[in-house]
Amino acid sequence: MSHTDEAVPVRHLSAKERGLLLDRYRVTDGKGFRLKDRDPGDTAGHLVGKHEAQALLNGGVEHLSTLQEKLYAQDRWAVLCVFQAMDAAGKDGTIKHVMSGVNPQGVQVTSFKAPSAEDLKHDFLWRAAKALPERGRIGIFNRSHYEETLVVRVHPELLQKQHLPPELIGKKIWDNRLGAIAGFERFLADQGTVILKFFLQVSKNEQKRRFMERLNDKKKNWKFSASDLKERHYWDQYQAVYEETIAATAAPHAPWFVVPADNKWFTRLVVVAAIVDALDRLDLKPPPLTQAETEALDAARVELLGEA
Ligand code: ATP
Ligand code: MG
Repeated sequence: MSHTDEAVPVRHLSAKERGLLLDRYRVTDGKGFRLKDRDPGDTAGHLVGKHEAQALLNGGVEHLSTLQEKLYAQDRWAVLCVFQAMDAAGKDGTIKHVMSGVNPQGVQVTSFKAPSAEDLKHDFLWRAAKALPERGRIGIFNRSHYEETLVVRVHPELLQKQHLPPELIGKKIWDNRLGAIAGFERFLADQGTVILKFFLQVSKNEQKRRFMERLNDKKKNWKFSASDLKERHYWDQYQAVYEETIAATAAPHAPWFVVPADNKWFTRLVVVAAIVDALDRLDLKPPPLTQAETEALDAARVELLGEA
């Protein structure tokens, strides 16, 4: 299906094209998973082209908007999209573009920053659980509970702030946390939450280029943060913990998408395709009316027609 409008070009990927695209980046089983086998500059060869990027994004955004309305009307499934990435990989821009066509009332975005004093009084999944989307809604986690096996692992001093009983901080803590996250997601999936996890994989070179742009372009100065540069020094440690985290938590009911992030146009296409694909599989339709509800509609019709 494709058509052209002069002002707003739109092309929809077919379900088959979408499947081929997503198969390249979806991880549902961590066995043998290596980040270095993945190319942050990949753009899926001939499957999609940069010249049609805008039309494809428009098509995806339009499709997502339609599916989201049905999700809301059906009010059974919830959708949770988790975004994780190194700084400047494009999380914010991706979320903004992919969700641009969706009714804001059906979407909730939560940004997970360093935990508050209150957060730290609870278990590490507490604040994630509080922010989960209701049925019928799409929840976006801009960073997430995954920070607990990423930044906290790279900077173990953060663990000391978590008020844990010291005897529970041992060698097994990371495996325990990964297991807890996997269990949490299994539970959510069984309760009707569709879980999609995106790791926007940017290369170290491209991150440098984007940092330089933030330093040199006055309009982008506000995006630069010295702490991002500090985290860059831990690049290799982050790659290692991302690899282990993704491998330990990839599952058919909670797949990771390792999305190449050196080309923003491509990142957005893959993310919107993944969400469309997941919603498209749900067979979304409003729940059938009961006899009583049908009768109530008939009565309302009669009443309105009877108005003077
Ligand atoms: P942007 O820079 O685009 O605004 P961001 O997600 O990088 O987006 P920041 O406010 O710069 O937002 O960073 C949030 C910081 O909070 C990150 O460094 C992240 O690692 C940290 N953080 C998030 N969750 C936790 C956690 N559970 N424990 C410790 N630090 C965390
Ligand atoms: Mg930041």
